[in-house]
Amino acid sequence: MKKKLSLGVQVLIALIAGVIAGLVLIWIGKPEFATDWLKPFGTIFLNLLKFIVVPVVLFSIIAGIISMKDVRKVASIGGKTIAYYLCTTAVAIIIGLVLSYALKGTYGQLDTAGLEYAAPSSQGIMQTIINIFPSNPITPLANSTMLQVIVIALFFGFGIILAGAKGKATADFVESFNEVCMKIMDFIIKLSPIGVFCLLTPAIAENGPKILKDMLMVLIVAYLAYIIHAAIVYSLSVKSFAGMSPLKFFKGASPAMILAFSSASSVGTLPLTMECSEKLGARKEVTSFVLPLGATINMDGTAIYQGVCTVFIASMFGIDLTIGQLLTIILTATLASIGTAGVPGAGMVMLTMVLVSVGLPVEGIALVAGIDRVFDMGRTAINVTGDMACATVISALEDKKEGKAA
Ligand code: ASP
Repeated sequence: MKKKLSLGVQVLIALIAGVIAGLVLIWIGKPEFATDWLKPFGTIFLNLLKFIVVPVVLFSIIAGIISMKDVRKVASIGGKTIAYYLCTTAVAIIIGLVLSYALKGTYGQLDTAGLEYAAPSSQGIMQTIINIFPSNPITPLANSTMLQVIVIALFFGFGIILAGAKGKATADFVESFNEVCMKIMDFIIKLSPIGVFCLLTPAIAENGPKILKDMLMVLIVAYLAYIIHAAIVYSLSVKSFAGMSPLKFFKGASPAMILAFSSASSVGTLPLTMECSEKLGARKEVTSFVLPLGATINMDGTAIYQGVCTVFIASMFGIDLTIGQLLTIILTATLASIGTAGVPGAGMVMLTMVLVSVGLPVEGIALVAGIDRVFDMGRTAINVTGDMACATVISALEDKKEGKAA
């Protein structure tokens, strides 16, 4: 009997096939074939993921809270999660900056005269905080505003716990609906290999020719920093907190990493991120809370990209950054990555905030905008890997705590 290939292997084959198909289409001069005929199927697949992600997040967080039965436990997991996310993001940007400085001599010089870039207006910090709290329960669900969906789920979860026996019917409904959503999600996830192929081929075919010699070095610096960060920070954290071999971790995480790479959307990848984490042994009550939060606020890859691009833009304009400016970059890139939505291209918009904070010309973004997708694919893969590492770590910490308490 033929053995069925695991989803991870299928997705890997789709990745390799997508890259080859993209390169072949460039070679035969028909990149538009991928855009016209493959991309629509990739978009359908992403739409399906986005369609299921809000109910999955909403019901799995509520179900997770109900199963914890304790508001304090949620607060304790939440506190540890946010601490982990902030620390790893700060390390990510430091790695990006150090590597940029080591290699910026290789960048060459681009012409910056006549650059134009209309920066979208970014909102202040208070408005960002206000925006976390929904003023009605429907719009955030309809618009997939993840942070607000999480807040709604938290309130309903706490409400159900506090209502006790009278909340039982709602709790049963949530648990049953959660199961149904998971089944739908499983079905959509089975389509990932097709989705990855149809998303990746056009991405390669469209961007391949744009990676000019001048941009190649800065791309290499960003990708090196992504890889170093994952190899050091995630390996160390899963090994030291969860006793898991890094190889096992990356193997288990790879289907989500590949989908994130192909789709450039952390939120779109979330259903698969949750599945991979659970297969790696993370607890459901942890993944259901830590991963949606991570897909919204934890963006290590984006922070690296912002650091690398800031140094690149400064050097193209012949500006030397001071130590004070570098510290400002670490701070603002950490904040900017929190504010970045888990959708394609969002990190580039937030790069504006980092550039403005150190007085660099925002028009510099025009230098990197043409190949943003290529940066984005790598940074999204790192973003979701960081979320999965956190879920593994927090889950292990919870196991230890309960082991001690028992
Ligand atoms: N595309 C990234 C993500 O979804 C965000 C970004 O643009 O940096 O994680």
